[in-house]
Amino acid sequence: MDAVTSPVRIARHGVVAVVAIDHPPVNALSRAVRQGLLDAMATLEADPAVAAIVLSGGPGRFIAGADIREMALPPSEPILPEVVAAIDSCTKPVVAAIDGAALGGGCEVALACDFRLGGPKALVGLTETRLGIIPGAGGTQRMARLVGVAQAISLVCEGRVVKAQDALALGLLDAVVEGDLLAAAIARAPKEGKRRLSACPVPDGDATAEAAAVTRALKGAKGAPAIASAIRVITGTRNGDFAAGLAAERAAFLVLRESAEANALRHLFFAERKAGKVPGLEGVAARPITSAAVIGAGTMGAGIAVALADAGLRVTLVERDAEAAEAGLGRVRAIYERQVTGGRLTPAEGDARLARVTPTDDWGFIAGVDLVVEAAFEDLAVKTDIFRRLDAIARPGAVLATNTSYLDLDAIAAATNRPHDVVGLHFFAPANVMKLLEVVRAQATAPDVLATALALGRKMGKQPIVAGNCDGFIGNRIYAVYRRHAEYLVADGASPLEVDAALQAYGFAMGIFAVSDMSGLDIAYAMRKRRTATRDPRERYVAIADRLVELGRLGRKSSAGWYAYDAAGKAAADPLVEEVIAAARTQKGIRPRAFTAQEIQRRLLAVMANAGAKVLAEGIALRASDIDLAFVNGYGFPRLKGGPMFAAGEMGLPEILKEVEAAHAAGGAGDEPAELLVRLVRSGHTFADWRKA
Ligand code: NAD
Repeated sequence: MDAVTSPVRIARHGVVAVVAIDHPPVNALSRAVRQGLLDAMATLEADPAVAAIVLSGGPGRFIAGADIREMALPPSEPILPEVVAAIDSCTKPVVAAIDGAALGGGCEVALACDFRLGGPKALVGLTETRLGIIPGAGGTQRMARLVGVAQAISLVCEGRVVKAQDALALGLLDAVVEGDLLAAAIARAPKEGKRRLSACPVPDGDATAEAAAVTRALKGAKGAPAIASAIRVITGTRNGDFAAGLAAERAAFLVLRESAEANALRHLFFAERKAGKVPGLEGVAARPITSAAVIGAGTMGAGIAVALADAGLRVTLVERDAEAAEAGLGRVRAIYERQVTGGRLTPAEGDARLARVTPTDDWGFIAGVDLVVEAAFEDLAVKTDIFRRLDAIARPGAVLATNTSYLDLDAIAAATNRPHDVVGLHFFAPANVMKLLEVVRAQATAPDVLATALALGRKMGKQPIVAGNCDGFIGNRIYAVYRRHAEYLVADGASPLEVDAALQAYGFAMGIFAVSDMSGLDIAYAMRKRRTATRDPRERYVAIADRLVELGRLGRKSSAGWYAYDAAGKAAADPLVEEVIAAARTQKGIRPRAFTAQEIQRRLLAVMANAGAKVLAEGIALRASDIDLAFVNGYGFPRLKGGPMFAAGEMGLPEILKEVEAAHAAGGAGDEPAELLVRLVRSGHTFADWRKA
C-alpha cells in the first residue's frame, strides 16, 4: 500500500509513534486498513528511535469493526489475525486511544494492545455474534483472560456494546480520559511496559457464575450456532493453551462466516441500512416534533403514548370523557410500573416519563401540538369524523397520523383540507416494545411529513419501514394470506398443534394459532364479517375460526380458543376443537391427509413470498428487504432465516413457484402465482434485483 493513499499514517512525538487510522466513516477494517496497520507495526518495530506506540482512530473514533461487505467474500490477505499478532508480538508497548467505537474486530485490535485508554464516548464490545459469527482474531481468548470466563461469555454471546464508564468498571478500559485523549496516550505510552493478554492466565472464576452465564446465553441464543461456538471456545480457555485456543476460535469463525445464519443476519444488517433510504426524500428536512397528542387511550394508544414519552416528547392523551382519559393514564402508569418493578427503569426515570403524559377529554389541547396520532376504534366512520375535527383544531403544519391497521388512508386524509399532512404510523402491539413501525404514505402525503415520520420512528428506537396504502399495508396484508393458508392446512388434515410445532421448529417463537389465541380471535372474526360483502366468492373460505368464536372461544382471554388453557395459562389441544375441525371437513367433503413439518414450512413460506411479490410489484413495499425487516421486527419471523423474501430466495424461486402453484390449487381465487414471481423464475433474477426482471 502506497503511503500517500494508505488510510494508516505514522506521526512521531519524540520517542512515541502515533499510528493514526483515517478511513471514514467509521475506520472499518478493510483490506487497506489491515495492510496499513501491519506495515506500520513492522516499520516501528524495526525503528530503534521509537520506544512506544499509540494506536488512534482520530477524534470520536477507533475502529468500528470489520468491513461487512468483505465478509461475504473469502478472507483476503493480510487477514486480521496477522495484524493482531503483529501488535501482540511487538516488543514495544502499544496503547490504544479509543475515542469512539472499538467494536468487533476493532475491539480485537484493542485487546491485542498493552493498554486501553478511552474517551468518555468510547464504546467497547465483541459484537460479532449479532452477525452470526464469533470473533476470529483472538477476541474470545483475550477477553476471557481480561474479564474471566463468565463475563466473557455474557459479553460475547449478548454482543454487548459497553459504554466508557462501564468498560472501565469491567476492566475493558484501563482509564477514561476526559480531556485530550491522544495527548494523554502519548504521555503515558513510554511509561508503560508490555502487558500481553496472550501471556496472561485466565482468572479463576466462580463455577456457578460460569454455569449461569452459559444457561443465559443458550436461552437467548434462539438456536444461533454462533452462541454455542462462542461458549465452547471461551470455556476452552480454561486449559491455558493460548495458541490452541486461537486455532479453535479461528476454525469456528471460518465455519460460521459461511453459515446460512450469518448470511441471513448480514442480509438484515444491510436491509436496515437500506430501509432508511427513501427515493425522493434526499435533502428533505423533517419537521421538528416535541409534543404530541394521542387520540384514544386503549391498548394501542397507551403503548404509543409510552413510546413517545420514552423518546422525550410531551404527550397529551385524549379520550372520549374524563373517566376514559384517567383509565388511559392508568394503562400508561401500569406499563411504567412494570418496567420499574422489572428493574428496566429507575423509579425516578419512570416518574419523569409518566409526568410527560397528560390525560384529557378536552380537544382544545390538540391545538398546540406538533403531532397527532389517532388510535381510536378501527372504523372508517369514527376515523374520518376524528380527522374532520382535527382539521378544524390542529395548528397549520402539525403532522396528522393514524394507527389504522387496514383502513384506506386516502379516505381518512380526504376528511381534511390538508391531506398532505396526513400519514400512517402503524405501530404493533405492544406499541412501546415492538420494533416495527410501518410508515404509510398516502397519495398526498408530503415528502417532509414522510421524513418527519421516519425521523420520529428512529428517535423512538423503532425500525421504520415505508409502506404504500392498501388493505393491510405490507405486514398485515401478507400476514392475512399466511393465516388463511395455515387454516387451509388445518382444514386439509394438519392439526393446529402440528402447524404451530412446524413454525416453532422453523424458528418462530410462537406458532400462528397460539399467536391468534393471544391477540384474541374476535378481532379477525369482526374483520372477516366486515369483508363478507366484498370477498371474492371464488376464494376458499374456512369457517373453523368463525365457529370457535361463535362457541365463545375468543382465545386466551376466555381460556379457550384454538387451544384450551389451564389455570396456569398452559395450552393444550382440545378435543372440542378437533370436533369442530372434523365437522368442517365433513361438511366440505375433505378427506384429511397428513402433512410433514417440512411441507407446512414450505407452504407457508411460499405463500408469504408470493404475497410479498405482489406487494413489491404494486409498489406497496420499496424493496424486498423492507418486507423482510417488517416480518422479523413485527411478526416474529426468525431473524436467523433473514425474513420471508430472503428465505424464499435461499430455497430457490423455482421451488417456491412450484409450491405456490400447489397452494393455488389448495386455495383458489386470490392465490394465483404473482406475475413478478413467474417473471423472476423465467429470467433467473432474484427478489433483490427484481426491477431487472
Ligand atoms: P381499543 O379499543 O383498545 O382502544 C380504542 C380507544 O379509543 C378506546 O379507549 C376508546 O375509548 C377510544 N376512542 C374511540 N373513539 C374515540 C374518540 N372519538 N375520541 C377519543 N377516543 C376515542 O383499540 P386498540 O386495540 O388500541 O386499537 C386502536 C387502533 O389501533 C385501531 O385502529 C386498531 O386497528 C389499531 N391497531 C391495533 C393493534 C392491536 O394489536 N390491538 C395493532 C396495530 C394497530
